[in-house]
Amino acid sequence: MSSGRSSEIVREFVANNRKLFEETNEKFIYAIGFALCLLAHSTYLIMFLVLKVREMMYFNIFSVVFYLTLVILVLTLRKGHSILLYTAASEVIIHAALATYLMGWDADFGIFLLILIPIIFLMMKGRLLVPYIFTAVSMGLFLWLRVRRNRHADLKYVFTDNKIINALYILNAVIGILFLVYTLTVYMLNRVDMEYRLTAQSEEFKKAASIDPLTQLFNRRAMNEKIREIRRNSATPRSRYVIGIGDIDNFKKINDTYGHDTGDKVLVYVANLFISMIPDGGYAARWGGEEFLFVLPESQIVDGLDFTDQMHKSLRAHTFEIDDCLFGVTMTFGVSEGIPTDKIDTVITHADKRLYKGKNNGKNHTEYTD
Ligand code: GH3
Ligand code: MG
Ligand code: MG
Repeated sequence: MSSGRSSEIVREFVANNRKLFEETNEKFIYAIGFALCLLAHSTYLIMFLVLKVREMMYFNIFSVVFYLTLVILVLTLRKGHSILLYTAASEVIIHAALATYLMGWDADFGIFLLILIPIIFLMMKGRLLVPYIFTAVSMGLFLWLRVRRNRHADLKYVFTDNKIINALYILNAVIGILFLVYTLTVYMLNRVDMEYRLTAQSEEFKKAASIDPLTQLFNRRAMNEKIREIRRNSATPRSRYVIGIGDIDNFKKINDTYGHDTGDKVLVYVANLFISMIPDGGYAARWGGEEFLFVLPESQIVDGLDFTDQMHKSLRAHTFEIDDCLFGVTMTFGVSEGIPTDKIDTVITHADKRLYKGKNNGKNHTEYTD
């Protein structure tokens, strides 16, 4: 399996199980962790019963009850999960330290004092100091036990049978590594989920920053970006593009007569007309209140005129019927042509001047000369 395919599987799993990673569902992840602890300590209990290590037997009876309680608590409590984590981490430290104190290093119960450290850092969120405190305690005990519980003569339980030592050692190593793997898996899935959320959020922000919420057209900022891009990508230095600005005629009167909401509906209608009629490769934007700007790459003035003619025709043919009110709407356009070396602002200003001219020349048509 290639790493690309496997990371795809991880992403798919996270995408299909988003709910698992919400804060309210974190308890299931902890519950599985505590249940694994319960299983591990049940195994230890049996083992210490067989080996007749009395202190550890009693300790593990406590541990089994303790983790059973934690599983129930974590599933029922709405909050306070971190306290449960602290107590579980403390239990692991005491268990590892006591076992090493009694039996020395042959079976390596002490490795839990090290394995616990990354787990604590990954699982304990929010409290900055806590993982460091746990690390200091764990590390301190590890070093002290390493120095002080080295000689068989000092130990209460010494197993001379190599098979027992190996069995204990393997059991500890397997349990320790499984815990590390479990924690790291949770952490990895969390990270993928976080990336997922961040990407979705940044897409949303990007959209919010470039789309006009009422008409769903590009806003002025995004359109400026688009025109610059069109200019950059022009096929030849002499390629032409057309910019047109259209303004709804007497829009203030529509607002005043039929209300602002009706005005908004007219704006949405006109925007949709732009979207449905703009030639392939062209873009339209809401340039201001009731003003729209369109750009047609690789086009000449005639193409701009063709487009605005169609817009005029469609608008004139349409009767608005909003809240029992019947009325018509017209637009005036100014169009201009640019080549890549022209300044964008100059081409836009030309179109704007022509629009102004059109407004003074009786509106409801397109101007394309100065
Ligand atoms: P002209 O034909 O010369 O363009 O006249 P006009 O009335 O269309 O132009 P004017 O600039 O006098 O008025 C534009 C109006 O558009 C004023 C403003 O309240 C309204 N307007 C701007 N943005 C919005 C909007 O988002 N929704 C609504 N309903 N009205 C808006
Ligand atoms: Mg107007
Ligand atoms: Mg206007």
